[in-house]
Amino acid sequence: MRQANICGDNLAFDAVIVGGGPAGSTIGTLLARNGLAVAIFERERFPRFHIGESLLPANVPIFDRLGCHDAIRQAGFTVKPGVTLYDEHEGRACKSFTFPPLPFQPASAYNVVRAEFDDLLLRHAEQVGASVYREHVVKQMHRESDKVTLQVQVPDGHLHEVQASLLIDASGRATFATQAIGTREPLPGLGKVAIFAHFRGMKQEREVPEGNIRLYLVPQGWLWRIPFAHGVGSVGGVLHAQVVKARSGSINALFEEILAASPHLTDALASAQRLTPVHTAANFSYRVSPFVADRYVAIGDASGFIDPVFSTGVFLAMRSAELAASDILRAFAAQDFSARRFRRYSRRLRRGTRVFLPFIERFYEPAFLDLLFTPVPPWQLDKPVLWVLSGAAFEHRPLWVHLGLNMFFGIMHMRRAVRRFRGQSAASRRSW
Ligand code: FAD
Repeated sequence: MRQANICGDNLAFDAVIVGGGPAGSTIGTLLARNGLAVAIFERERFPRFHIGESLLPANVPIFDRLGCHDAIRQAGFTVKPGVTLYDEHEGRACKSFTFPPLPFQPASAYNVVRAEFDDLLLRHAEQVGASVYREHVVKQMHRESDKVTLQVQVPDGHLHEVQASLLIDASGRATFATQAIGTREPLPGLGKVAIFAHFRGMKQEREVPEGNIRLYLVPQGWLWRIPFAHGVGSVGGVLHAQVVKARSGSINALFEEILAASPHLTDALASAQRLTPVHTAANFSYRVSPFVADRYVAIGDASGFIDPVFSTGVFLAMRSAELAASDILRAFAAQDFSARRFRRYSRRLRRGTRVFLPFIERFYEPAFLDLLFTPVPPWQLDKPVLWVLSGAAFEHRPLWVHLGLNMFFGIMHMRRAVRRFRGQSAASRRSW
């Protein structure tokens, strides 16, 4: 693949996309396929390490629509049939959940090595006609009534000016354009810190389906293990802010300490070697407002990020790109790039994302975990919950799912009261 450099190229495009992650590649593919002149500027040299490796079943039909599912299958990513929870805080043992097969999505997702996955998606965008500029950093933007102008730093350090009718911010947690256009606020109670790395040589637990993501609840927060092929996997922890504040040692020492908090994970890692440096991320839960404006649309993490616990990030990044693409194509047809053209996208993204929020808030509550760990859930209430956690409820919320969720949260409320009555802890650990 040609390594594009903007020196010598045409410096005017219909749309310029800042960021070549899943959101940027998805929208680049869709707009280029519909005949727009699109440039994707990505500051990193690909392939590059990225966190966010466990996908949802709702991601899979997007691969079909983009036309890259065969390439994803051929890449040999591990199939993820479900999730296994280990409670090593209150000692509720281990429970596995399997995604349901639905008419519009399969009963499984993939665990992906993001370096390979993001590279594959970006190459796909290039193959369908997007101009992709790697190691090009978008430095500044200026919106005018008839165009957007960007300053782009090329690999030799020089700055070039690029113009477009529309700017799409897909810059992830960098939220490139937020300072110029709106605000970014942290989500209350979710000021967590994550520490993570890849390992080789992890042991397979006998009681757990091979591709399941494992979540381990420990007093300091929660840990994950995302299995890739050949005993390689991603391991990390999301820590309560108070745990991090109380520590003064190195990040590596803290990482070892929290891994040791889980006997199951410690056992799985007994003969494993770390493959990557230990990475960290902080303050990753935030809201961006507004995420559409005149000649401007933000998608993926650049439009906000809720929490990593239910692996929603890549799905929301790619689905937001699809929803935005549909409004953007209409805006080009009408040659009208005012904010109101993108309001339908903004409404649909807000509505779809809202369904995950009660789960993220309640994940930190013991009463929620009581219900999840019930061996036989009353009235099969695990079904509407899995419907949401597979990503299906972003768009499809039949009445039984709606009623089931109300009932689930109603029972959880009662369970909370029972805990208090018995003198057990009922307090949420979300803001710890
Ligand atoms: P990104 O993937 O971050 O891509 C943005 C791109 O923009 C980057 O490549 C960056 O280099 C580029 N860029 C930034 N600024 C500029 C600039 N000025 N010029 C040019 N390029 C620029 N999601 C899941 O689905 N599953 C998980 O298991 C999961 N686990 C997570 C665990 C943690 C601890 C965290 C913090 C997040 C997790 N996520 C997970 C979320 C996931 O990482 C993101 O939601 C996802 O990567 C968003 O994709 P994106 O394309 O919006 O942004």
